[in-house]
Amino acid sequence: MTMTDPSDTLTADEQRVTDLADELLAAFPPADTDPKVFLGEQFDRGLAWVHFPEGHGGLGLNPKLQKTINERLYAQGAPNPMYRNPIGHGMCGPTVVAWGSDEQKQRYLRPLFTGEEIWCQLFSEPGSGSDFAGLSSTGVQDGEEWIVNGQKVWTTLAHLSKWGLLVVRTDPQAVKHAGLTAFVVDMQDPTVEIRPLRQMTGEAEFNEVFFSDTRIPAAEMLGSPGDGWRVSLTTLMNERVSIGGTIPAKGSGTISALVQTWKQLPADRRTPSAREVVMKLWARAEVLRLTNIRANQMRKVGDPGPEGSIGKMASADLNKDIYDEVVNLLGAEGLLYGSYEMVRPETAMGADTLQKAFLRSRANSIEGGTTEVMKNILGERVLGLPGDVRVDRDVPWADVPRS
Ligand SMILES: Cc1cc2nc3c(=O)[nH]c(=O)nc-3n(C[C@H](O)[C@H](O)[C@H](O)COP(=O)(O)OP(=O)(O)OC[C@H]3O[C@@H](n4cnc5c(N)ncnc54)[C@H](O)[C@@H]3O)c2cc1C
Repeated sequence: MTMTDPSDTLTADEQRVTDLADELLAAFPPADTDPKVFLGEQFDRGLAWVHFPEGHGGLGLNPKLQKTINERLYAQGAPNPMYRNPIGHGMCGPTVVAWGSDEQKQRYLRPLFTGEEIWCQLFSEPGSGSDFAGLSSTGVQDGEEWIVNGQKVWTTLAHLSKWGLLVVRTDPQAVKHAGLTAFVVDMQDPTVEIRPLRQMTGEAEFNEVFFSDTRIPAAEMLGSPGDGWRVSLTTLMNERVSIGGTIPAKGSGTISALVQTWKQLPADRRTPSAREVVMKLWARAEVLRLTNIRANQMRKVGDPGPEGSIGKMASADLNKDIYDEVVNLLGAEGLLYGSYEMVRPETAMGADTLQKAFLRSRANSIEGGTTEVMKNILGERVLGLPGDVRVDRDVPWADVPRS
């Protein structure tokens, strides 16, 4: 019997995606091509999310090959789809491919990848963030439509979005995790009101969103009624990898801001004690980079597992510590801030100055699930420790006391 050596398969697949990437670069040189055209061509060649099925932006190959593709494309100046549509690319795309109908995949994935249609994630509510399964916004069926009412909050890029990934309560009599349903909602519908929420950076990259009798066609459901929690897990696990799983080149990424700041310091301020702090942070950044490489190598086709929480948790603390030290090294200059005038940024998680990056990094241990909640997930699902106290787990949602 002839056996195929897995390393042969990988090499053949690597060769295939490398050839396809080279063909794309030759036919559409990034410097002379509209980014949307380039990204559309990348999608059509199956190089958008290489593990997605053929015809939907992928080739059904191992997800680790995406790194090979991206490195090749970015080295030639190709556009990064994450930049303009971070929530869409990192979280909503993988959710649509896992749970959407063929029509939904056909309709949504390409313009999502090209950035022609921006997406947002409508999970958190004023009373339900970490305990997102306890949410109160409602969806009531009316023939071939669902009528949605309620409020979402902290909705990143809602003001630029065409589509939103929405989870609402459709069965209040079921226990909280079982009564949820997910939909794709048109953010430009007149019944959807979007108000800016300003952050400590002065910017408003997120919003509060109000739904008042918003009608959503039943065909825009993801999965079936009651699947909302499982749909959300796909989104949340991809969110953690998207936020914390980046694999920058050695010494690049957030740590490069600290190294650059260090290099520009006058010699008399490069003290041995400051050097020790910088070196410890550099070592932590390198350990995280290697951990994310290992997680990426272990990842098989399908959803990332709870291990994605490791990178999310570690990168949040590390980013904050790095920017603390950057501001320390800057001394009085660290207090200078351009303007607190409210602006609506074109993308999320960006910062054009070190001082703004310092303030923005404070949110890293909250967004995408707090560090405390990541510790619970890792404790329970990876280490097998006893679970958190959950008094409302077996009670119908409607009977759970709430203020
Ligand atoms: C910059 C930014 C962007 C965001 N973008 C989006 C978005 O696009 N879409 C979206 O839906 N949401 C978004 N969020 C919301 C984010 O997911 C929530 O803020 C987060 O899940 C925490 O929820 P909360 O703010 O309600 O805090 P709470 O859940 O009220 O938590 C308050 C505190 O209690 C702690 N805590 C809560 N439960 C536990 C527990 N079981 N064990 C231990 N400690 C616990 C938390 O760690 C935290 O310190 C964003 C948040 C930020 C900061």
